[in-house]
Amino acid sequence: MFDYLIVGAGFAGSVIAERLASQLDKKVLVLDKRPHIAGNAYDHYNEEGILVHKYGPHIFHTNSRDVFDYLSQFTEWRPYEHRVLASVDGQLVPMPINLDTINKLYGLNLTSFDVNDFFKSVAEEVDTIRTSEDVVVSKVGRELYEKFFRNYTRKQWGLDPSELDKSVTSRVPVRTNRDDRYFTDTYQAMPLHGYTAMFEKMLAHPNIKIMLNTDYHEILDVIPFREMIYTGPVDEYFDFKYGKLPYRSLQFKHETLEKPVHLPSAVVNYPNEHAYTRVTEFKYLTGQQHNKTSIVYEYPMAEGDPYYPVPKPENAEIYNKYKKLAEATPGVTFVGRLATYRYYNMDQVVAQALSQFKKIKAKGEPEQVDGAKVELGQKGVALGNRALEAGSNGKPSKNGKEKAM
Ligand code: FAD
Ligand code: UDP
Repeated sequence: MFDYLIVGAGFAGSVIAERLASQLDKKVLVLDKRPHIAGNAYDHYNEEGILVHKYGPHIFHTNSRDVFDYLSQFTEWRPYEHRVLASVDGQLVPMPINLDTINKLYGLNLTSFDVNDFFKSVAEEVDTIRTSEDVVVSKVGRELYEKFFRNYTRKQWGLDPSELDKSVTSRVPVRTNRDDRYFTDTYQAMPLHGYTAMFEKMLAHPNIKIMLNTDYHEILDVIPFREMIYTGPVDEYFDFKYGKLPYRSLQFKHETLEKPVHLPSAVVNYPNEHAYTRVTEFKYLTGQQHNKTSIVYEYPMAEGDPYYPVPKPENAEIYNKYKKLAEATPGVTFVGRLATYRYYNMDQVVAQALSQFKKIKAKGEPEQVDGAKVELGQKGVALGNRALEAGSNGKPSKNGKEKAM
């Protein structure tokens, strides 16, 4: 009998698995329907021996010391600051928009003060900033919005920025200085030997068993467990009871080229040309030396593996219904980008998983009931019994619903 079945071996599942095993001595089964661990952060050496990210570029950055310290137990780091160029009006210019972007684009020689005035002169007044269009036009006006944001966003999301929550384009700042880094977080680094190697260490605990190529439905009737941590899409867990939650997908086209360097920076964004949004050259990210180089193109898709929750009010409404259902499902904890329908970066998922672990741990700790101490583990047993009631063999029934016995 496993104490926990963990569905998904990405950041959410692996962090909780590691904590439960190492801190609470729980017996954990981590399973994933994919043939590998590390979820979307999975990296591997391709046929030419170049380290690539199968599911697109993953750059680690965080302001959280806790998250950085936590992951540092499982990896050394390679300092790395990410830089992106955007192809606009036939030129490659820094993205996020900064002083150099404006000077290069318009052939000017503005200072930081001048560019601040420039932005003010072109910015549109917006009463309440609600959408992803509002965010940008209120800072840099319509022309720059159209050159850098409108078409990229339409391509990436299949939606106009005016239909998307403000949080989406708010991810990309606008600067009046010459800082051309994509992120300004305190900690910016890549796992020295890659993400998969870091996950291998995280999951290398004797209490953790891993099963790959397995959808959790396949083992529900076979492997007994007390509780579940679910990190897949939340709507799928509940058989789309309230309808399908939109997740945006991507197709990745990987290529290896017979030359050591291809791009002038790690990533080039194409807001206005091509069906793909961006091209990434992995050697910038990994620092690997090799006489060939590998790149990936990202083509946004409506159908396919779910990669991005789509932040817009209608979807938030649907998600809230699933959230209520999730909260009312005993014995199952929903964690991660797909299960909580949040456009989270890796560090945010790690933080969410650590905080969920703390809640699980607190539930199992002794507490005062009518002045008497309840022994550690009793609550867990109670939950286990509840799970027992749902099915014949100690597993919550499929999708948390009553199972025919
Ligand atoms: P996932 O990694 O998606 O893991 C969930 C796992 O559950 C999957 O492996 C899936 O196979 C498994 N699963 C689902 N359903 C089932 C089932 N029924 N049975 C068994 N297994 C199941 N973040 C950053 O911080 N920096 C970046 O640069 C960055 N770049 C990104 C680029 C792209 C193209 C994408 C898509 C995301 C990027 N992210 C980035 C976000 C990052 O990928 C996520 O924050 C993180 O991987 C989410 O982890 P997770 O465990 O919640 O989900
Ligand atoms: N974006 C854009 N133009 C760009 C870069 C980003 O319009 O050159 C918008 C787009 O809507 C994108 C969002 O900003 O989805 C967030 O960008 P980010 O680079 O954070 O996206 P991610 O790396 O998560 O795909």
